Amino acid sequence: MSELLKVTHLHKEFGTNVVLKDINLSVKKGEVVVIIGPSGCGKSTFLRCLNGLEDIQGGVITVDGLPVEAGKRDITKLRQKIGMVFQSYELFPHMTVLENIILAPTKVQKRQKDEAVREALELLDKVGLSDKKDYYPRQLSGGQKQRVAIVRALLMHPEVILFDEVTAALDPEMVHEVLETMIALAKGGSTMLIVTHEMAFAKAVADRIVFLDKGDIVEETEDVAGFFNEPETDRAKKFLKTFS
Ligand code: ADP
Ligand code: MG
Repeated sequence: MSELLKVTHLHKEFGTNVVLKDINLSVKKGEVVVIIGPSGCGKSTFLRCLNGLEDIQGGVITVDGLPVEAGKRDITKLRQKIGMVFQSYELFPHMTVLENIILAPTKVQKRQKDEAVREALELLDKVGLSDKKDYYPRQLSGGQKQRVAIVRALLMHPEVILFDEVTAALDPEMVHEVLETMIALAKGGSTMLIVTHEMAFAKAVADRIVFLDKGDIVEETEDVAGFFNEPETDRAKKFLKTFS
């Protein structure tokens, strides 16, 4: 399998606050990597660095061979390779579901509108939302909005998709429908980096677990079941205890 995402010696600080310390990580095509760790340990910042939303103070990030440099002009090229879904959906309130979804493919990627609409409708159908295509975000539940946000990311055909606690703002009964959508994507071979506090989901979906604490990768393993049974480090043990 080829390497899609490569991070070497990533260093990120906000002023005097060092948030990511010498992070090294490679993600292969089709791999699902789940990042877990305590609140404030740098998970969101890490994903934002990968997506060029944050400048970095050291190290190199490449996506499919393309260097990620925040503020660079060819950020649009990067946006086509790496998609992101946020906890807060980030849908445009004044646009319908369909308009939200086809905006970037038609404006950024310059795809034909009818072709983008056709694919958007197919994807909406897959997540059970084809009847909502003309709704506005305010007319949808949180779980529906999040599935729309996932479809919007998918329509760009990214090589890698980043998910940052996408179920954290949802009512418990809606968490499941969003996680099911992500599990289906993972089974379909999508390359995904997922930050989540849903440990049962992490265990089910991950090919690899990365445990981050205070800006450090403390534990990283492909023995996912083993990690959840008996992590190697005390820090991970302590973290997992907070969920039991
Ligand atoms: P997590 O997602 O793991 O909860 P974050 O990546 O959001 O953690 O935050 C990691 C650290 O970076 C925290 O100390 C936070 O205060 C700091 N931080 C995050 N974003 C900013 C920012 N825009 N400016 C300054 N500090 C920030
Ligand atoms: Mg976060």
